[in-house]
Amino acid sequence: MIEIKCKHCCKNLFPNEDVTLLTSHNTNKSDIEHTGCGPNFVEHFVYMSTENVPTWIQEIIDQTSWIKGRLNCPFCNTRIGSFNLVVDTKCSCGTCIVPPIKLIQSKLDILNESNKKHYTYCQTRIAR
Ligand SMILES: [Zn+2]
Ligand SMILES: [Zn+2]
Repeated sequence: MIEIKCKHCCKNLFPNEDVTLLTSHNTNKSDIEHTGCGPNFVEHFVYMSTENVPTWIQEIIDQTSWIKGRLNCPFCNTRIGSFNLVVDTKCSCGTCIVPPIKLIQSKLDILNESNKKHYTYCQTRIAR
């Protein structure tokens, strides 16, 4: 299972939810290094579809009447992404329409079983 933490406050953003992250090509981003537009392409976002949306994101989407808006960390309010349910956006290589909810990768620590053990940044901050 993937854990997604806010880089700013180190809190787990989706503590009790099974979150599915997608690439810009709508494929399951189970391998964190996998990118949508090709192996040499640096992807700045991870995506989610509107099926299975985590609770607090769903609430924000409902508040905007399903149009578009920003997603901020529910703990520290840092901007971590956005969503747009009205305009289709193409991926960087132009072959796909990206999923409507996007999160900024540089604002997050995305942990899976293989990189979790190398992960020390937030743990050391909490320990201090
Ligand atoms: Zn935060
Ligand atoms: Zn592409």
